[in-house]
Amino acid sequence: MLKAFVNCRIFDSEDTAFAIDGDRIVKTGSDEDIRAFAEEDVITDLQGMFVVPGFIDTHLHMLGLGYTLTNADLTGCRSAADVIRVLQAHCKNLNEGDWLIGRGYNEDHFDDGSVLTKELLDRYFPDRPAALKRVCGHVMTVNSRTLELAGICADTECDGGRILFDSGRVEENGIAVIQEVQPRPDADAIRAYLHKAMDFCNTKGITCAASDDFISITSDQPLVLDTFEKMSFRSDMTVRINEQCEFTDIDQFAAFLDDGYTMDVGNDLFRIGPLKLITDGSLGARTAAMSRPYHDMPSEQGYMCMDEDEIRMYTKLANKFNMGTICHAIGDEAVDKVLAVFKDEVLEGNPLHHGLVHCQIMRPSQIAQVLKQHLSCYIQTLFIDYDSSILKDRAGSLLARSSYPFRTLYEGTLTSNGSDAPVETPDPIRGIQLAVTRKSLDGKSQMEPSECLSVDQAIRSYTVKGAEQLFMDDRLGYIREGCYADFAVIDRDIRECEPEDISKASVVCTYMNGEKVFEK
Ligand SMILES: [Zn+2]
Repeated sequence: MLKAFVNCRIFDSEDTAFAIDGDRIVKTGSDEDIRAFAEEDVITDLQGMFVVPGFIDTHLHMLGLGYTLTNADLTGCRSAADVIRVLQAHCKNLNEGDWLIGRGYNEDHFDDGSVLTKELLDRYFPDRPAALKRVCGHVMTVNSRTLELAGICADTECDGGRILFDSGRVEENGIAVIQEVQPRPDADAIRAYLHKAMDFCNTKGITCAASDDFISITSDQPLVLDTFEKMSFRSDMTVRINEQCEFTDIDQFAAFLDDGYTMDVGNDLFRIGPLKLITDGSLGARTAAMSRPYHDMPSEQGYMCMDEDEIRMYTKLANKFNMGTICHAIGDEAVDKVLAVFKDEVLEGNPLHHGLVHCQIMRPSQIAQVLKQHLSCYIQTLFIDYDSSILKDRAGSLLARSSYPFRTLYEGTLTSNGSDAPVETPDPIRGIQLAVTRKSLDGKSQMEPSECLSVDQAIRSYTVKGAEQLFMDDRLGYIREGCYADFAVIDRDIRECEPEDISKASVVCTYMNGEKVFEK
């Protein structure tokens, strides 16, 4: 059915009106053009509001987001006692013996210097297993019941991870050991989590996401894949998904390839994207692999979750199947290892969009190689809010200056934005403000200002650059005839507000595939 919208400002366009039919944009032009084209009763007057192509978040964990929204949300906690209070309230919804799952605590936000430990959890929750992920998802705190179920004792060791029995702190690959004994979600639960997360994304104007889900809450990768495929065949999705494929080991990846899957298999609702590797940890938890010890904790240097040979082995296998490889690499040591592999394995011009996810701690020589090889960069400007307050402490002033080099990357290679949700709330408008100001939302800390994006660049990092990253810019990322009718209407033109006020703007409605999927 034809629908038309007039009297609006359209990003990167002189037009003020457009019409959609079915899942596509069929005409753009002046208000007069569109009024002549469509009957009065299908026309909506947008009263001067700002229309952007549906936002594309090019790195998040949709399933993990739904799971987090369903379990105890610890993001607002300001002390360990606060965490206990939230968990106690959450327990009221649980049955006896149910796992107590939470996510989002950040000890850097604990005003009283308290720490979350096994002992504390044991005191309040002695009978049920508890597993709480730090905000970054790279560290977990668990209680004794959980350690017991996972068969962990004081001398248990873990490749590419750490399990500290006394404190209950579990890092990196240790998390999979815990996850293995947690109850496995079935297809209905996975579908419910995805709907919850997609609905949330729609409220923020997101209509497409590159998402890493295969092993984020279960190791049953085939079940997650199957659930997504069925949902896409039934058009039971309100966010297009490009899957960033992560696997528990190379055999699982080989079985996936054997089944005929590789990058670009699928449809425009669910498509297989690149191989995703997690090579190190997070800056906040000091597990990101650094070339020198942490400035604020010289006993720690972070560590690799997989070594260079393993990165190379995966990348070579993916290359054989024309599949790009993207690597989570946050510390500069991890970036070194990934770049050493990419130096040999990436073809000229980087046709498969091999890339780096996060692009945080980087030295100038590394940035130069990224630009030279035209590597894809998946940045998260939303991280600036928290990371601007810890960057100099963690990395030291010199390294801090060349880190998070977002403008250099944006102007020099293919760079798109994302949230890494549930690490951050998937909120592009807030991400645009942070890209433009590089200041924390409270205004107290700032990163190197020469790397600020312009507002237009920041909007493109969430729209057309995302579409290019996913090889979909012939049908996504523009308000243009022939493109999918994916767009968001914003209550004000964020190109005209003060940079510090951009995040006050809000999404009024969101359309995906020509359907209204959110209305305020
Ligand atoms: Zn991630």
